[in-house]
Amino acid sequence: MKKYYPFENPPLPYAYDALEPYIDTKTMKLHHDKHLQTYVDNLNKTLENSRFQNMSLEQLIYNADRLPDDISVPIRNNAGGVYNHWFYFEGMANSQLKLPVGNLLQAINNEFGSFEKFKDEFSKAATSVFGSGYAWLVKDNGKLKIITTPNQNSPIELGMCPILTVDVWEHAYYLKNYNLRKEYIDNWFNVVNWERAENNYNKCK
Ligand code: MN
Repeated sequence: MKKYYPFENPPLPYAYDALEPYIDTKTMKLHHDKHLQTYVDNLNKTLENSRFQNMSLEQLIYNADRLPDDISVPIRNNAGGVYNHWFYFEGMANSQLKLPVGNLLQAINNEFGSFEKFKDEFSKAATSVFGSGYAWLVKDNGKLKIITTPNQNSPIELGMCPILTVDVWEHAYYLKNYNLRKEYIDNWFNVVNWERAENNYNKCK
């Protein structure tokens, strides 16, 4: 994904129906083509004629609080919206792998006791997000942590290193699961791209 203005919305790294039957084609199409596209468009609009066009997506998020008042909120929401959605989409795959691997598996076992315990805790965190937001597995000060963020806030503004995320905005599941967020999260666990998550983990300091 392009990291600098003007931002773009490249195709998903898999087909819209690749995550069936766990996440439906219609949801994936709307989520990518409409919801994410709107964040990309609004981010570009916010940066039009701005002297902050040379900042990367991550720099924009990290510095959103320090930007001038008129663009601080739209930058946080829209840069966050672009970053978080790509992190979520790239964190999924049509994969046979249903468990974390390598260093990440070891770290999860060390921190949470077992993968099942981690899954349970992550699931509870994601289910409990009030309103719209995300649940994340992050590395913070050398330790794995599960956190949640409201709206399009991102762990990188908190100086944390993201490993995995699930989008729990209703648009991520309402067409298929209606109000049953827990059912969506259970489904999502079947399409986690654990190889990608491990790569992310290994890149965290
Ligand atoms: Mn979303």
